[in-house]
Amino acid sequence: MPSDLLERSRLFLEYLEEWRRGLKPFSLSRELGEPGAAAVFSADMVVGFCHSGSLASPRVGSLVQPVVDLFQRAWRAGMRHFVLAQDTHHQAAQEFGAFPPHCVRGTEESQTIPELRGLPFADRFTIVEKNSLSPAVGTGLDGWLDSHPELRTCIVVGDCTDLCTYSLAMHLRLRANALNVAGVRVIVPANAVETYDLPVEMARKIGAPAHPGDLFHLVFLYHMHLNGCQVARELVD
Ligand SMILES: [Zn+2]
Repeated sequence: MPSDLLERSRLFLEYLEEWRRGLKPFSLSRELGEPGAAAVFSADMVVGFCHSGSLASPRVGSLVQPVVDLFQRAWRAGMRHFVLAQDTHHQAAQEFGAFPPHCVRGTEESQTIPELRGLPFADRFTIVEKNSLSPAVGTGLDGWLDSHPELRTCIVVGDCTDLCTYSLAMHLRLRANALNVAGVRVIVPANAVETYDLPVEMARKIGAPAHPGDLFHLVFLYHMHLNGCQVARELVD
């Protein structure tokens, strides 16, 4: 059975690689349109995923530079809305049944990474605190979206591709679909999104669920694409 699944999936995996190779850059100068109707949304660009803590990894840490670069490009292009959805967990969060404790409110882990905090326009950031993978359940996100009805272009970055970033991009896409808002684009630059890797051998050793980073990253990018998000190779000026 497993070998059969492998065999049956081979063609699709080749197709997936081909899809990735064909991703095009998104050009701010040519494709952004009205910058006032655009916002950058980030998922979990916090210390606890990028720098230190039980869920931090160099792989996710490698996102810092591309995300900072993207924020700066967006600012230079005239964008002024930056919405940062961030884990700010209750001490006894239900999520800690599935993932080790991380990003508890009041700890360094739950802080925005210093590389973003140090940007000259950091005082314009809107922080959306969340206690789950959902950016919208029990948070201020929908309130912010309600108060910005002009929003048409959502640029989504952050970690992890298959978890909070996926939830964030999908919420923005599905909300626009559900409310029938015409002209909304959810753009996901693949170079500013990442997920963690927990190989099978290591997972067996420590008794945690395996998490194939490369595969999940690609499958979930593709899943956003098939749901109508626009996955780009990167954001350029
Ligand atoms: Zn969390």
